[in-house]
Amino acid sequence: MKKILAINSGSSSLKFKLFEMPAEKVLAAGLIERIGFKDGGVTLKYGAGQVYTETRKVSDHRVAVDLLMDLLIEFKIIEDYGEITGIGHRIVAGGEYFKESTIIDDEAEAKIEQLIPLAPLHNPAHLVGIRAFKKKLPQALEVGVFDTAFHQTMPEENFIYSLPYEWYQKYNARRYGAHGTSHRYVAQEAAKLMGKPLADLKLITCHLGAGASLTAIKDGKSFDTSMGFTPLSGVTMATRSGDVDPSLLSYLIEKDPEIADMSEMIDRLNHDASLLGISGVSSDMRDVLAAAPSNHRAQLAVDIFVKNIVKYIGQYIAEMQGVDGIVFTAGIGENSQPVRSLVMKRLAYLGIKEDVVANATFGKNTFVSTPDSKVKVMRIMTDEELVIARDVQALAR
Ligand code: ADP
Repeated sequence: MKKILAINSGSSSLKFKLFEMPAEKVLAAGLIERIGFKDGGVTLKYGAGQVYTETRKVSDHRVAVDLLMDLLIEFKIIEDYGEITGIGHRIVAGGEYFKESTIIDDEAEAKIEQLIPLAPLHNPAHLVGIRAFKKKLPQALEVGVFDTAFHQTMPEENFIYSLPYEWYQKYNARRYGAHGTSHRYVAQEAAKLMGKPLADLKLITCHLGAGASLTAIKDGKSFDTSMGFTPLSGVTMATRSGDVDPSLLSYLIEKDPEIADMSEMIDRLNHDASLLGISGVSSDMRDVLAAAPSNHRAQLAVDIFVKNIVKYIGQYIAEMQGVDGIVFTAGIGENSQPVRSLVMKRLAYLGIKEDVVANATFGKNTFVSTPDSKVKVMRIMTDEELVIARDVQALAR
């Protein structure tokens, strides 16, 4: 039996999940956060629902990895470092180079470094994590699992912007998409639920978390997706703007004395827009829904959120010339019965009928449309860490 760690290394955090494979049993999961700050924190979940938390200074990722391994030994989750045979790292930007999950040898590590301009905040943090684990667990196979890889099958007409083609040739300016690991996984689970081969289905997967993206999946492959060069574009999200006219941005930089330049504008578009910016209430869909009945801006935020999902679904149906199934996943997609219901109501013209009872249940993959609904609508729980562990296991063979 092998133990495989799925790692998501951010600029000041390290999220982890330890699996026993091939049983796919979760042995431990948790988070080391505020790395580099005075008040770092550790959360470790293990056993039958036990949780250990601690506040302590964690000066860098190397220290975080040491701490994680010490805790796994201390809580008897492992007896020896050698038990961990593989580590899978979630990596945001794989550019055109990484079309699938890949063993991180020296060449791959250099490539991830070269791709930093495509994800200036994320790829450097991933590299710090990769290098810290290489030092600590040199015997383990390190694998990169890329958010962009699944979308590498998109046809050129769906990834080239209507911009001078030389910008693509010279500067890699194109649509890369994101959340690929989640879209890939939920599409496979949806095909299982529908009892049909994925390759025979036209699906639209809606990953609606704090970040949100939709993907059109045809012939089992990503055909088009709503995120673009970066995860800032597409539908309405928690705080990221989604699509916006670029001319408006230069106009606003001139008008708003609080925004000095484009980099400050991008920061505002990442942190102050969408649910939070429209509603002025919260970036959390639960708060916005609760405020909506008595707050015009909160109601408007919900309406725009739903409208943009419906808009992209319509676009993808036209592009694929049909759709067999629509999938809701991630924080909002899995948990928000009202959001799923509002989207389905606006899609009634497709012959979609909500199964009100199924849509009100929680906690398992299920159809939320009625059996006679012309297009099947599903709630599928995503599990990016499991995909990472499976990819490590496959490459270890
Ligand atoms: P990410 O991984 O992108 O940070 P998640 O997929 O965990 O995000 O989703 C987080 C979001 O899910 C939160 O912003 C919250 O608004 C939303 N969410 C979680 N539970 C519910 C719920 N019951 N109803 C509506 N929204 C929810």
